[in-house]
Amino acid sequence: MKYPEVTNFINGQFVASDGARVLEVHSPLDGALLSTVSLSSEAALDGAVRAAKTAFRTWSRTPVKERVQVFFAYRNLLAKHIHELSELVSEENGKTYSEARAEIEKSIELTEFACSMPQMVGEEVLEVSRGVECKLERHPLGVVASIVPFNFPSMVPHWTIPNALVLGNTMIVKPSEQVPLSLVRVAEMLKEAGLPDGVLNIVNGNKTIVEAICDHPDIEAVSFVGSTKVAKIVYARSAANMKRVLALGGAKNHLIVLPDAQKEMTASNVVASVTGCAGQRCMAASVLLAVGDVEEIIEQICREAEKVVPGENLGAVISREAKERIERYITEAEQAGARILVDGRNVTVSGKEGGYYVGPTIIDAVTPDMAVAREEIFGPVLSIIRTITLADALAIENANPYGNAAAVFTQNGGAARQVIDNAGAGMVGVNIGVPVPREPFSFGGWNESKFGALDITGKSAIEFWTKLKKITTKWNPEAGINWMS
Ligand code: NAD
Repeated sequence: MKYPEVTNFINGQFVASDGARVLEVHSPLDGALLSTVSLSSEAALDGAVRAAKTAFRTWSRTPVKERVQVFFAYRNLLAKHIHELSELVSEENGKTYSEARAEIEKSIELTEFACSMPQMVGEEVLEVSRGVECKLERHPLGVVASIVPFNFPSMVPHWTIPNALVLGNTMIVKPSEQVPLSLVRVAEMLKEAGLPDGVLNIVNGNKTIVEAICDHPDIEAVSFVGSTKVAKIVYARSAANMKRVLALGGAKNHLIVLPDAQKEMTASNVVASVTGCAGQRCMAASVLLAVGDVEEIIEQICREAEKVVPGENLGAVISREAKERIERYITEAEQAGARILVDGRNVTVSGKEGGYYVGPTIIDAVTPDMAVAREEIFGPVLSIIRTITLADALAIENANPYGNAAAVFTQNGGAARQVIDNAGAGMVGVNIGVPVPREPFSFGGWNESKFGALDITGKSAIEFWTKLKKITTKWNPEAGINWMS
């Protein structure tokens, strides 16, 4: 085993989990055993919440300018250790080293955004009536929780941890049991950066801990990122327990390609979107809506896809089950009459035979009723649906229940505007395959890709992690009384 057993991090200490069940953590790159993680019981969560509640008393009263000092130091530790952290993300998640490095760079950017919080959360004061002042203050919520998925072991936790903590909350993080290692380093580096004990706590576990978080009376808010099925459970259960909740779910992202699209740029963007992180991104392209005659662009897409080689510039998928599931989708589409233009099934990488690889796959002649067109596959697979008009393409995009991303490839501004106006997605790209809004813009989809009113990052995060207090004051008796005061 390359790393020691993953333990919980409670009140500034690594403590063995009390869980009876132990899971092995394997690297998707080659199947090697990396570590083990035991699934905690509700009692461990209770201990973490008690520590976070105690820490909240001091941390919430620490001025924001002092709180950010910890994150300035932490940001520098992320930069200092970027190579080691990137290797760890690649090992536990299976993405390539360069994708993992981009993930740590994004974690740095998210931390930098949180460091600018004192410039963003200035209080508002206004004389609202003669001699009467109204002041708006932002207060932290208390103990909050963040439940994260496997596909970004570093970036997704950084969507919530820096902002929530800089804003004065204390937190319980529940890592994905498939990739628990990167968060160990986050805890170590935050401690080294000076974060007081109890402000960040990590409780490893699965469904039991997630449900206990939703039910815990001392947790004020829950942030969740993962599949739509679990997002719905977490949203409903946390809201039923009167908590503030934001739950991001799965996706099925459509790219619309018009005949006037620039061929090379379109093909390279489409393929990067489909194959980046082995298609395990909630912003990955999954369906290509080919409008009219785009034959040459599709041929170019296939040529680009063939340059993407598993084990070289294409990482592994998370598990053997994921590989089997993705290959099953491809086979079922073929059996239903679709045409496989590029086939990524049955791939092995020499020297890494124990790894879980699926090659880039392009499927043509897909119809909207096929499972590959409707369901989230979460692998490097692109399904092509042919349409005659842009309106037909938009109708198909709109009929899908998800709503994370949509994009259009065209040189026509009017057509681009039509997609921007009518796509049923929270994030839309024009000639961009992965339209992720970077800080200070916020990240969040629509429909079944997100439950809750706000977005998870950017300025929207300030609203989610704070509550407002409105203070009205009058000190001058000569101002008299009117109905407004
Ligand atoms: P998942 O829903 O299986 O797991 C997410 C978290 O929920 C994990 O911590 C897991 O332990 C926990 N969990 C799993 N099953 C549970 C259950 N039945 N009850 C309670 N908790 C449970 O998701 P995943 O497989 O880790 O991640 C992939 C999914 O996440 C994809 O659907 C992807 O689209 C989505 N995702 C969405 C976004 C977004 O921004 N919308 C970002 C990243 C990933």
